[in-house]
Amino acid sequence: MQLSSRLNLFNEPETLKMAKLGRELRAKGFDVIDLSLGEPDFDTPEHIKEAAKKAIDDNYSHYTPVAGYPDLREAVCFKLKRDNNLDYKPENIIVSTGAKQSLANVVLATVSKGDEVVIPTPYWVTYSEIVKLGEGVCKLVSTSVENKYKITPAQLEAAITDKTRLFIFSSPCNPSGSVYSKAELEGLAEVFRKFPNVFILSDEIYEYINFVGKHESIAQFEDLKDRVIVLNGLSKGFAMTGYRLGYVAAHPDVVKACEKLQGQFTSGTNSITQRAAIVALTSDLRPTEIMVEEFARRKKRVLEIIAAIPGLELAEPDGAFYVFPIVSSYFGKSDGNETIKDADDLCMYILNNAHVSTVTGRAFGEPTCIRISFANSMEKIEEGWKRISAALAKLK
Ligand code: PMP
Repeated sequence: MQLSSRLNLFNEPETLKMAKLGRELRAKGFDVIDLSLGEPDFDTPEHIKEAAKKAIDDNYSHYTPVAGYPDLREAVCFKLKRDNNLDYKPENIIVSTGAKQSLANVVLATVSKGDEVVIPTPYWVTYSEIVKLGEGVCKLVSTSVENKYKITPAQLEAAITDKTRLFIFSSPCNPSGSVYSKAELEGLAEVFRKFPNVFILSDEIYEYINFVGKHESIAQFEDLKDRVIVLNGLSKGFAMTGYRLGYVAAHPDVVKACEKLQGQFTSGTNSITQRAAIVALTSDLRPTEIMVEEFARRKKRVLEIIAAIPGLELAEPDGAFYVFPIVSSYFGKSDGNETIKDADDLCMYILNNAHVSTVTGRAFGEPTCIRISFANSMEKIEEGWKRISAALAKLK
């Protein structure tokens, strides 16, 4: 069958691939523990579920405006003021079917064929693939574990050329968990001031899952704000991955461009989700805080476990819900049956021998690491790590 050559430009998400392999093993009767997926293991808070049910009863069943209901765009502005002290108007906001679609809209709206997009590694898997789909050119910049996987101003400046259109980063970062401080963002802002044609896509979807204090957005620097595109959504902070709602806050021209694309792709996100989102974004954040307290407890435990396993080097995550240890000390080792060449092999070895799913760092542009989630119950985490530790101990 002859399918489009466009499909060859990009890869399927490695995160979803590992989850699929895990499910297949489970279907064969194995007790597989999933430490691969990036979603909270919590239920959506009751008051948000009530809002979704009410939206059905109130017959929110028609097409919505493409960019979202006006009162939802207002609610996003309210949230950005309340939590981030950022001033936006509804014309600066567009909601989409998950932050993943928001990202796709932004990349397709800003990047033309051959334009360069600077992305510090490690990065969330989808950034590079969407850029490739959009026929842009990824310029990956390696960061170091010593700098907690954060790009330095000097590295940023060296990577930007006259072809650069876009810079994409996340803070808190998936997969490294690194969080940029205000001073670090100011350092990057200094560089961006020299390059007025570069858009800055700031992915803040893990904003609330922060173990070190206040979230800082690069949109706070007024002189850059027209070029900053804030990306956020409800999936992580409100345990609403299946609802599919993401949004961007940006200059109205960027928003209109996204709206044009979205008008052809989806006509806008689900009406029920939009009504529920208004409640999520404007109500008390206590359920989110309770969830984050639990993530902090699990993180502490996982760090204790890792400290007792030889050969794993780690930058402590300051946010998100993953650990991203360097595993290269296991490369070249064998359990007598197979030799581990790289992080892909190690993930498959852990899946097949420990029945725990994880994700190779290669997918995130950091092939010496693997990503292991702690968005699972403490019981599963304890059992999963017991098995991982036993499997690693067999590698000599
Ligand atoms: N950005 C980052 C860094 C993510 O990890 C994810 C989800 N894995 C997303 C964006 C997209 O989230 P969603 O499409 O569920 O809103």
